[in-house]
Formats: sequence, structure tokens, C-alpha cells
Amino acid sequence: MIIITQKSFKYRIYPTEAQITNLINQFSMCRYLYNWSLEERIKAYENEQISITYNEQQNKLPELKKERPHFKGVYSQVLQDVLKRLDSAYQGFFRRVKKGDTAGFPKFKKKGDWDSITYPLYRYSVSSQIYVPKVGTVKIIYHREIPKEAKIKTLTITKESDKWFACFSVELSINIEHKQGLANSIGIDLGLIDFLYASDGSHVPAPKYYRKLQNRLARLQRRFAKADKYSSKWYKLLKAIQKVYYRIRCLKHDFLHKTANALLEKADIIFHENLNISGMMRRPKPKQDEEGKYLPNNASAKSGLNKSFADASLGQFLNTLKSKAVALGKKVIGVPPHYTSQECPVCHQIVKKSLSVRTHRCPCGFVANRDFAASLNILRIGLDTLTA
Ligand SMILES: [Zn+2]
Repeated sequence: MIIITQKSFKYRIYPTEAQITNLINQFSMCRYLYNWSLEERIKAYENEQISITYNEQQNKLPELKKERPHFKGVYSQVLQDVLKRLDSAYQGFFRRVKKGDTAGFPKFKKKGDWDSITYPLYRYSVSSQIYVPKVGTVKIIYHREIPKEAKIKTLTITKESDKWFACFSVELSINIEHKQGLANSIGIDLGLIDFLYASDGSHVPAPKYYRKLQNRLARLQRRFAKADKYSSKWYKLLKAIQKVYYRIRCLKHDFLHKTANALLEKADIIFHENLNISGMMRRPKPKQDEEGKYLPNNASAKSGLNKSFADASLGQFLNTLKSKAVALGKKVIGVPPHYTSQECPVCHQIVKKSLSVRTHRCPCGFVANRDFAASLNILRIGLDTLTA
């Protein structure tokens, strides 16, 4: 399977004295633009209760250049990127407010606070030197090659203490299943929010019916406990409880079989993480994801039920999957669960994240759903053990 990923490549560059002066100048103009635009947004809100958008601020750039000709020394796209940075600082603020966090409002940038410029649509090739618009040709130590098939998206020039760097963000398609003869294998990550996430990108949410029926069951059991033993009401409630139990069993059986069949239809070898139920029980559930959206089964009150569902069902699911696989001449193989949720499937560095963080964000540029990243790791570990 081919997946498109974002990756970044960073190199030391050696601008001349004149180029350094030029870049430092650009930094201070970017900082000025940022602060000016932030103030414009704040004033517009204070005075007229209106929100100024990125597009409105971007449309004012030509006017600004006319009024302040020295802005012509900064590439238009770099200025647009400054406004985009402000816009995402705003959006990040509102996202945090929505989540109920005590959120920091975007701050004015002090002198020295600005140390990078980004060319969002960089389209030049890289060799022993690079062309930087409005700066010129700069010497670069091209110590590792950007893959030929990679598409360069952006260039960011940064200053870190007294050193200068060029960082290219590229789009790269990588082939996850590269080992011959095992193309028909899949990795699955089992969990509480998504019942399973597969390395082909498909996922199955934890079933919703379980909670509803568990609530009904709890209500019935409370009434049952209060009823006079062996009374007609008591017998009626007992029958109702048995009926709910039966309903849960049927739905679960149906869910597990359908999920297993769907997997076996697309893969000959299925790798899963060896289950550590006690470890899973400790996994807390987040209330919202990073975008501030509520996850399908978010409430903490539900987590107990999801845990009990997972507890009862994940092991059962693997047994179902294994017995079906045997009948079809397919394989279900467990792999040790080391770092599958922390390691980056693209560059293999460990990206520590707390249990509530649902997105894997690697410094290498790879961004994916946490459980999807885990499923890619499970697939790779599985393939490695098979071909070792
Ligand atoms: Zn990575």
C-alpha cells in the first residue's frame, strides 16, 4: 500500500554577511507585520466587534507595500505566511477555549522573537547551493539527498543562535508493503475508541449498542434488587434481564464475526499486538480530540463500559479471528507490544505522547491517527519477525 507522507529535510546554510543583514532585516519586517496585524485584529474586535480574516489581511498587503516601500524587500509569499502564522495562532487559541483550557491569547512578538521565514510554495532544485528569493544564491551543506521522487513544498530559513539552516518540507509517497510475497498482510491495532484500526487505513469504531443495553441492564438490575423475591414482579424483571443479556450476546457475536470476516476477506496474514488487558484497563479516554471535536464515545462515564466491552471482547475477537483463519488457511500472528504506539512508522524515532493524544505527530513530518500509526508498526514488526 502506498501512503503519502510529509517529511522535512534540514541543512546548514552559509549566507554571506550581506545576506545575513538582509535576512535579519526581513525577520524584523515580518515581526512588524505580525504585530501590526495582531493589533488590527484586536482593535477591530474591541471597537466594532468584528473578526478580521486571513483573506482580508492578505488583501491589504499591496497597499502596505505602497505605504512602506521597504516591504518590497520581502517576498510576497513570505508575508502571506506571516499572516497565516497569526491566523493559526488565533485558531489555536479558539480551539483551546472551546476545549475549556485556560488558553493563551496570541502574543505580540518582542525583538529577537522572530527567527524564521517560510517560502510556502518553494519550487527550486537543491544542490551545493540554493536560490532564496529576495536573498540570492546561498551555500548549503547538502549532506543527505532529498529523494528524487519527493515533491518540495516549502522552504523555511531559520537562525538558531548564530547558525543558519534551510528546512525543506516535502511530500513523499512511501510503500508500506515492500516485502515480496507478503503483500497480502495487514496489521491491526485493537483499542477502546476504535475497536480496531488497520494498516490499510480502515477502522471499526467500538459498537454503540453496548452502552445502551448496559444502561438498560443496570436499570433493570436496580429494580430487580428492590423487588420482593419470587413475586410476580420479580419474575417479570428476571425475564427482562435475561432478555437483555441475550440481546447483548447476539449483537456482540454478530459484530465480532462481521469484523473478523471483513478482515479475512482482504488479508492472508493478520498481525495483531499481543493483548495486555490489564494495561488496556489503565488507558484513560480523552473527552475530545485535538480539533476540539467530541469523539463518538467520549464521556468519562462511558469509559468503564467501553473498558468492560474491550475486556470481554478483544480476546474473544482474536479467538474468533483465529478459528476462522484456520478454516481458510490464513494466519493470525501476535507481535510483542513494544513501543507500537510511540514509535514513528516512517523514521522509527520514539515520539512520546500521553494516552489522550490521538494524533501521532513526528518531527520527521509524519502525521497520522495514533492507532493507524500503531497498526503500521505492528505490520512492520510482524513482517520483520516472519522474514528474520
Ligand atoms: Zn518520524
